[in-house]
Amino acid sequence: MEIVFLGTGAGAPTSKRHVSAIALKFDQGSSLWLFDCGEGAQQQFARAKLSLARVSHIFISHLHGDHLFGLPGLLGSRSLQCAATAGLTVFGPQGIADYLRHCFAVTQTKLGYPLTIREFEDDGVLVEDAGVTVTIASLCHGIPSYGFAIQEAPHPGRFFAHLAMQQGIPPGPLYGRLKSGENVVLPDGRLVTAQSVVADPVQGRKVTILGDTAPCEQAAHLAREADVLIGESTFAETESQIAARSHHSTARQIAELARSARVRTLILTHVSARYQDVEDSPDSESHPLLTEARAVFAHTLLAHDFYRYHVNRRDRPRPDPYT
Ligand SMILES: [Zn+2]
Repeated sequence: MEIVFLGTGAGAPTSKRHVSAIALKFDQGSSLWLFDCGEGAQQQFARAKLSLARVSHIFISHLHGDHLFGLPGLLGSRSLQCAATAGLTVFGPQGIADYLRHCFAVTQTKLGYPLTIREFEDDGVLVEDAGVTVTIASLCHGIPSYGFAIQEAPHPGRFFAHLAMQQGIPPGPLYGRLKSGENVVLPDGRLVTAQSVVADPVQGRKVTILGDTAPCEQAAHLAREADVLIGESTFAETESQIAARSHHSTARQIAELARSARVRTLILTHVSARYQDVEDSPDSESHPLLTEARAVFAHTLLAHDFYRYHVNRRDRPRPDPYT
């Protein structure tokens, strides 16, 4: 599972940051999911060498323009890619269907593939697809804004063929049953438990992507024990009054949320254009938002456009940095 940040700015693009768009690539299959689609997202796809034809799901966190204005163009351009005949589903808050229908009607855009639009309102499970569950929760942003928890199902544990051989089990259908967790009885009457030849299942990965929000209980709940939390840190604490007025989070607030939710890694995004001067510095480690967040939660990274983060599986017990 790889996260590709295509747009990491807030409000308006700068020379360094496009507005919100995050792609999620899965290890298996060619499917690609997109979270938010700010203006210019399709150009960022081209620069990141990602194929629009591979996009199967688009999730829009809320209807502010810096998360949405790139969507009609991206959907239209996808039609021009000859490989893009597979359907695509857009998930978003109420109003997204009207927005797209008006855009397509006024511009006489015809899509060359089936488009499904699913509006959501209630918190809960939104998608269960190929071993991945997406749960949504409403946040606190002045207009309906949502976060997404993407949770993989556990992976079956490794099958140890040599242990099976040692117990005199011949290769064949019995191996398949043991691998799937079933205990089997051999022709000579012996019981072989799956546990004796198969390792424990590997916990599935969890990535939580928050839409714009002030700190709130629902965001913390959605982020609980995530491998990666992607959270907005539009402002530093020095601008906390503006953050509160505009229902955004400061770097410190999102770091406090990451710590209380016991996430493994926090990645900051949705950075205000007011920091573009400091972003000219070659030393990105000294970025004020990163410094502020790391003072609270050490496992913090700051995304930039085209930053890629690979989410590893937890194949060992998780080291606990909190004790
Ligand atoms: Zn917003």
